[in-house]
Amino acid sequence: MKFIIATNNAHKLIELERILSPLGINAVSPKKEGISLDDVEENGSSFKENSFIKADAACKKTGLPAIADDSGICVDALDGKPGIYSARFGGEDASDTDKNSMILDMLKDKDDSERGAHYTCAITCVFPNGDKIQVEGKCFGKIARAPEGDGGFGYDPIFLYNGVSFGKTSAEDKDKVSHRGNALRMFREELVKYLEGNNAHK
Ligand code: IMP
Repeated sequence: MKFIIATNNAHKLIELERILSPLGINAVSPKKEGISLDDVEENGSSFKENSFIKADAACKKTGLPAIADDSGICVDALDGKPGIYSARFGGEDASDTDKNSMILDMLKDKDDSERGAHYTCAITCVFPNGDKIQVEGKCFGKIARAPEGDGGFGYDPIFLYNGVSFGKTSAEDKDKVSHRGNALRMFREELVKYLEGNNAHK
């Protein structure tokens, strides 16, 4: 069974391939299917909505079941910002270092009890018959006082999980507790149930 992964991010594609191949699923990229998702506007108001918009567009363009994710970081003291705007926070030209410096600056007067934050990752799978699987994984932590470590990507150097920066955490250890790892594990479980249910009806 072939599924399209609605992303141009090679890292996400590899991660999903790893999860899906043991289920007998062949995960393909938009490029491989000869489609572009550049015209798809992520104008939803939640991670779930944005992941649905991407998956639905890929499903409609190819007629294949499609999977998309959407993720970001929500900072308590900033009323949940940058949230769904995490990738665009500070403008298109802002680097990860710029984004992290902005958050540290905005939190400079906050003590430890006011530095709570969490990552969220929503995954949506849309089937050509309109069926949908949707899950959301979270990972709760705190914003550091300064960047630590150069591992991971994005906001990882300023995100502390159990007091340790994700910038100093191996990919394997991050997977075990991260929003994406949690969402992928939930997704795999839901997908297995869905596929088993469908086979039982045949
Ligand atoms: P998207 O899910 O590709 O739209 O990206 C969301 C943005 O959220 C990324 O560009 C990162 O800035 C941030 N983000 C999402 N997940 C992570 C993570 O695991 N570590 C660090 N930053 C993340």
